[in-house]
Amino acid sequence: MFLAYCDECEERFLLPASHVTAVHNLASGVIAVELTCYEGHKIIVLSGNDIDIPGPATV
Ligand SMILES: [Zn+2]
Repeated sequence: MFLAYCDECEERFLLPASHVTAVHNLASGVIAVELTCYEGHKIIVLSGNDIDIPGPATV
């Protein structure tokens, strides 16, 4: 499950892995996860060992 904030919905969602559309390795221990919210909006979340608080990211 991924906690993601959708700017368009202005709402935070807990999204299942089935909402993941892509995963990118940015650096050692850091990944960017592309998700879609329940309305179909695209969300990018940074995740990994070096990220304390998952949230929206500008990539
Ligand atoms: Zn949305």
